[in-house]
Amino acid sequence: MLTIGVDIGGTKVAAGVVDENGAILENALRPTPADRPDLVAETVADVVKELARGKEIEAVGVGAAGFVDETRSIVRFAPNLAWREEPLQKKITELIGLPVVVENDANAMAWAEARFGAGRGESHLVCVTVGTGIGGGIVIDGHLYRGRWGMGAELGHMQVVPEGRLCGCGNLGCWEQYASGNALVRETREIVANQPERAATLLGLAGGTIEGEEVTEAARQGDEAALAAFAAMADWLAQGLADLAAILDPGRFIVGGGVSRAADLFIDRTRETFGRVLTGRGHRPVAEIRLAELGASAGLVGAADLARRR
Ligand SMILES: [Zn+2]
Repeated sequence: MLTIGVDIGGTKVAAGVVDENGAILENALRPTPADRPDLVAETVADVVKELARGKEIEAVGVGAAGFVDETRSIVRFAPNLAWREEPLQKKITELIGLPVVVENDANAMAWAEARFGAGRGESHLVCVTVGTGIGGGIVIDGHLYRGRWGMGAELGHMQVVPEGRLCGCGNLGCWEQYASGNALVRETREIVANQPERAATLLGLAGGTIEGEEVTEAARQGDEAALAAFAAMADWLAQGLADLAAILDPGRFIVGGGVSRAADLFIDRTRETFGRVLTGRGHRPVAEIRLAELGASAGLVGAADLARRR
């Protein structure tokens, strides 16, 4: 039987027909009606109907950034789409007449990696999605861990610096303010402001505002400021992973998300620092840190598989 996975992003809704091996047989895209969050359910229904034509579809899994309740029906709060207590599952079910499961997008990605990607063969996983912020998913004993209210694994919001940088969540010093793509850019801008002489290459490339792409390109060309920012990000990432290892003791970490495309600039240092700061080091196995394998389609593949196992 086939299921359809849908990934609701801030700019596009990506959907695909997925088989039991995690293969995408057909896919489709729609722009997200970001200024009309009440119309997202219609957009999802529309894309699902298009994909379902002529096929037997068992269920639909929908991944969305935000806090999804423990019944996997209601998006309590979504930072990108201004949803508050959005009954997404009910709305979509009414429009398409198929069983629907709603899941946090980072949980869906983690599940896809666990089943079909970098997590295969390991039952205890922590998946960290490093993009503009940090998302997380935890698999314990082969099961996705959601917490009591469905809101577990918001790893980006562990406080790593008391009274630290202000986070979008309203707290201070969250991990994603130090180890994400946004943090990388912010760190770079600070170095450039204080020591422009270290950023000659970067300033030549950026010609105005510094964004993630320029930081990555400058680092590849050996720019000192960009490399220093990557090193800082790598160390913060490693420290957070070490804290997670202290709590969860996973066999493997999976690092994905947009920033992992520049993994050659930070992953070795992350592994090295992780080994140095891990509690009990020298007296325990050191969890592997691997890169995600499924790329941007992980969210929809995971949502589709979770719908299959609803
Ligand atoms: Zn936060």
